[in-house]
Amino acid sequence: MNELLVFICDGAPVRGEIVSISSAWQAVLERRNDPPVVQRILGDFVGAATLLSASLKFDGTLIIQAQSKGPIQLLVVECKSDLTMRATVKLSVEPADINPNATLDELLDADNTGRLVITLDPSDRQPGQPPYQGIVALQEQQGTVIKPVTSAAEAIALYMQNSEQLDTRIWLASNETHVGGLLLQRLPDSGGYAHLDPQLAAEGWSRIQTLGETITDEELLTLSPQTILRRLFLEESAESGVRSFPSRPIRFSCRCSRAKVADVLRMLGEEEVESILTEQGAVETECDFCAKAYRFDAVDCRQVFKTDLLVDATRPPSSGH
Ligand SMILES: [Zn+2]
Repeated sequence: MNELLVFICDGAPVRGEIVSISSAWQAVLERRNDPPVVQRILGDFVGAATLLSASLKFDGTLIIQAQSKGPIQLLVVECKSDLTMRATVKLSVEPADINPNATLDELLDADNTGRLVITLDPSDRQPGQPPYQGIVALQEQQGTVIKPVTSAAEAIALYMQNSEQLDTRIWLASNETHVGGLLLQRLPDSGGYAHLDPQLAAEGWSRIQTLGETITDEELLTLSPQTILRRLFLEESAESGVRSFPSRPIRFSCRCSRAKVADVLRMLGEEEVESILTEQGAVETECDFCAKAYRFDAVDCRQVFKTDLLVDATRPPSSGH
């Protein structure tokens, strides 16, 4: 089960998605050694990234990134429009020092400084054009009280409310083998639902939410999206039609390459790279997402900084000598 199912309701202005990820999630985990409490948070964000990526109609990469002063220093999940994804976490403490019962805000929102940045990087972005970024604070101000955001689902719903102006409900569950999620979104009445009486539309949205609220973590983690859809909307489908589209596969895929590592070395600069070579004999690095090892020895590094060669390579091939 590595799939995402989109459905719409004929009798209510609602679009929904159900996601179930197993081997693609295990591919993320097999390269990592995070404590279960961190795994669950990462898993929830992996589920969220796939649901968001499929719900925002754009072609490119969606990146969910959290930086914090808490035990989770950095969390990154990337999902492309074709639903290939990768994810990583960097901890600021030893895994053994993390409280196994810590909540999201304890791990990601120390001193109320937690921020979630959601970036939409279109595949046709022009050089110099910045990607679109939305920021969600991991606290919610309610009157004079600051309330921490305690789950990935809550953070994503806040983002959708603020950035996309869409009422969104989201349920996420994850464990060491599976990630599951359900997203419900209220569509504008003006869309294909102009025929619906506004009161009926509001009632429809509230009825679908009530059905959504009956979902359990157990169901999200063990059932296929099709089975979940049937169970949740059994009556709804008979009465007013819940229609699903063919499900789409989700895969783990890393975009790292030797050429990208070479770019990083160029950014570091020749002097810095020389000093690493002197100290360690070679530059060795590992991809944060897939743990693939890259090694550049002195000869490789010289190639990286051979700018003449690079300039030549970008010239169109000459037509004979
Ligand atoms: Zn990689």
